[in-house]
Amino acid sequence: MKSDRGLKAFYTWANRRYFKSRLPPDAVLVYNTLRRRTAMSHYFDCGLAVIEVSKAIRAIGWKHVAMEVLHEMAHVSVILSDTPRGVHGKNFQREMKRLAAAGAFEKYW
Ligand SMILES: [Zn+2]
Repeated sequence: MKSDRGLKAFYTWANRRYFKSRLPPDAVLVYNTLRRRTAMSHYFDCGLAVIEVSKAIRAIGWKHVAMEVLHEMAHVSVILSDTPRGVHGKNFQREMKRLAAAGAFEKYW
């Protein structure tokens, strides 16, 4: 699977800026035609991360795409830090607050 260039460029930048490049550099980021979800992430035991963003979100605008990618990156970060994988549980909330405090959402919300 080949990444969308714009999504991957943002991921690479955000990984360096907000995650100390801790997230997998070879992650695959693509747009798809998800209907019910706006974005989702998968992390495989082999270390591959895949982030999918709905084309419907792209149609609304970049800032929504950026928010979704950061949200999914927070999921990958929580999984990598070996904490319980509750989908939007305490650890995920903590990671999102950390990102907000670091200014990750300033241009987007
Ligand atoms: Zn989520």
